[in-house]
Amino acid sequence: MMMRSLVAFATLIALGASATAQVPPSAPLPFVLKQIGPGVYAAIDGPDHKAGSNAGFVIGDDGVLVVDAFFNLDAARALVAQIHRLTPKPIRYVVNTHYHADHTGGDQALRDAGAIIIAHRNVRGWVRTNNINLFGDRITPELKATIQALPLPDLTTDKDLVVWLGSRKVMVRTVLGHTGGDLTIYVPDAGVLFTGDMLWRKIPPNLIDGSVREWTATDADFVAMPDAVHMVFVPGHGDVAGIKDVEDFRAYLLDLRRLVSEGRKSGLKDEALAQAVTPKLKALHPDWAISDRAAAAEVRYMDQELAGTKKRPVPAAD
Ligand SMILES: [Zn+2]
Repeated sequence: MMMRSLVAFATLIALGASATAQVPPSAPLPFVLKQIGPGVYAAIDGPDHKAGSNAGFVIGDDGVLVVDAFFNLDAARALVAQIHRLTPKPIRYVVNTHYHADHTGGDQALRDAGAIIIAHRNVRGWVRTNNINLFGDRITPELKATIQALPLPDLTTDKDLVVWLGSRKVMVRTVLGHTGGDLTIYVPDAGVLFTGDMLWRKIPPNLIDGSVREWTATDADFVAMPDAVHMVFVPGHGDVAGIKDVEDFRAYLLDLRRLVSEGRKSGLKDEALAQAVTPKLKALHPDWAISDRAAAAEVRYMDQELAGTKKRPVPAAD
């Protein structure tokens, strides 16, 4: 693999500048493209997490609908290039599953490619503001400026939508749990559901804006979908998933709530609570990648939700 790319690079050099001036040596994609149905693709964040999250797209009769835009313009542009490689049909829409910058950061690249940005109505009020809180003390002046210049969605909704790509039906649904402005994208003829961050596969989810109560109810709805056993679920983070992964993720959230609740009942709080819960959570989900830092955040947010002190983003007026 490495040998082959070295050879390709050497060939480019050997061809000389005149022939190859416009063709840079091809960088590896920041995501792995996986076909998961007829004309339906998942773009799964690579091992270096350069894309920041997963995305995907649906090719219909007369155009393409993209789901999410990654964290940065480079990854989104690479996605646009892959779509153009697969089909001459225009990119007509990008649907943001929620406002978080790891899913909206590349929107401008999709808009430049011709897409209308569709999102939950609350995304318009949050994408340039609440994303700054999301990074806490890791925010830099550059990132802040990038967030404040993110494109606002063109088409917003707080109801379910059907987007027709010619005769191909794509169902955009409002769901509860991750941020207060969440959409899923269902392609019924392919049995594919893009869940956004309502599903993470073997990775602790970001609970900063979430409600575990609502979230577990939404995941129960996924499991209850007709033919869910044969469906493909594209999570916001982690590899392409099936119903077992949805059940596993929901079990993780229920385990977290139960363990934090038990710890609270025995009088534990803050660091002591995290130290009591973390090993039990890891033991129940040994095939998950759970860092101590991630577990501490999960416990803190779960504790706040159970205490009734959790702060969630507040919908702004249009
Ligand atoms: Zn995410």
